[in-house]
Amino acid sequence: MLTLTFLGTGAATPTIDRNVAGLAVQREGETILFDCGEGTQRQMMRYGVGFSFTEIFFTHYHADHILGVTGLLRTMGLQDRTAPVTLYGPRGASKVLGAAIALGIERNKFPVEIVELRAGDRLGREAYDIVVFETDHRADTVGYALAEHPRLGRFHPERARELGIPEGHLWGRLHKGETIILEDGRTIAPADLVGAPRRGRTVVYSGDTRPHLAVAEAARSADLLVHEATFGGDELERARETGHSTAAEAARVALEAGVRRLVLTHISPRYTRDAPELLAEAVAIFPNTVIARDGMTVEVPFAE
Ligand SMILES: [Zn+2]
Ligand SMILES: [Zn+2]
Repeated sequence: MLTLTFLGTGAATPTIDRNVAGLAVQREGETILFDCGEGTQRQMMRYGVGFSFTEIFFTHYHADHILGVTGLLRTMGLQDRTAPVTLYGPRGASKVLGAAIALGIERNKFPVEIVELRAGDRLGREAYDIVVFETDHRADTVGYALAEHPRLGRFHPERARELGIPEGHLWGRLHKGETIILEDGRTIAPADLVGAPRRGRTVVYSGDTRPHLAVAEAARSADLLVHEATFGGDELERARETGHSTAAEAARVALEAGVRRLVLTHISPRYTRDAPELLAEAVAIFPNTVIARDGMTVEVPFAE
């Protein structure tokens, strides 16, 4: 299972329809948060995202992406949390996030670690990597890709039976790539009954950015690109001035990267909840696009 829950899909200020930036990625029982705008904790409660996460990745430190972290950590403290939390972000993490978690008179009741990242960093996990890439937003900013490691090839049990390999641990060893020797002396190689490794899934989150080559490169053939689209084409100048993208620009990044699906988020308060004009501009360039809404969940299936 790999599921995204959009906790906040608006730019700059909350509106009745959209909270500010927050994205939960849930994978095989693990939850990871990306950005944490004001009110994120209430969005998590509302949309059924538990507080069992241990990491938040910040794209940058504009208020609409960070102001929720203070309250969220306080609530977790009141719930007697003891497990540590790690906050990741680009240059300035210690200063800005350090101030956010120190605000007020309460002390954090559980350990909070702050880790500064830079574009090009790659955090290796058991089954996936978090890849940090450069973005262009007139500040110290990064984007993130969650890139799963390749999966084992498909195991063909009917072939294993044909070859007379007894079902059990030998199947598992072959599947993992081991060559085995049967009791009758025959040697069986994995290639005899296991397909080629299958690619894992990749999800990419741009954060706030102008259209940028590094985003397209990070998103090359990705299963899902979540790209900001603060404005429509009539506000292109404003998008340039403020370091944001239009819907059409985001769609061109998706097209260039050859992703399977595009979700547009970080929508300016000037657009309605459905933002039909932004959708129309994007779909004309990249048809497999949707506009994110608060509470929307997106499943990311395997390609095959
Ligand atoms: Zn923003
Ligand atoms: Zn910003």
